[in-house]
Amino acid sequence: MVQAMEAQPSGIGIAAPQIGILQQIAIVDVSDRVRAAKRLYLVNPRLLEAKDEILSREGCMSLPEYTAYLKRYNQVRVAWQDENGEHQEKAAIGIEAICIQHEIDHLQGMLFIDRVTALKTDMIPRAKTLKKTSN
Ligand SMILES: [Zn+2]
Repeated sequence: MVQAMEAQPSGIGIAAPQIGILQQIAIVDVSDRVRAAKRLYLVNPRLLEAKDEILSREGCMSLPEYTAYLKRYNQVRVAWQDENGEHQEKAAIGIEAICIQHEIDHLQGMLFIDRVTALKTDMIPRAKTLKKTSN
């Protein structure tokens, strides 16, 4: 999973089902963009709280041709088991919170386009975009 994530030009996350592993595991790593962030190995992650809805522009390695605008929460509290099976909890904000929501969606069989409300106006072909975010 780490290899597949790092193979993406600006990959900040990956969920096991994206590479054919049907388990509740995801990796989120926004340390390139948020200095204090650490790589999170999320086993059985679940949101405990979510607030502060915002518009997020996202891409995904499972749908490389597009980015899209969709609603996400800017602040979440997430619980999971780490790679050692230990219970963990943390509050995340901004891009880390959004990436966590994106990866939990994958674990539930959803892609970001499933949350787009207006496909015509909110989907943007990659070629027209300068800033790329893949997770
Ligand atoms: Zn994705």
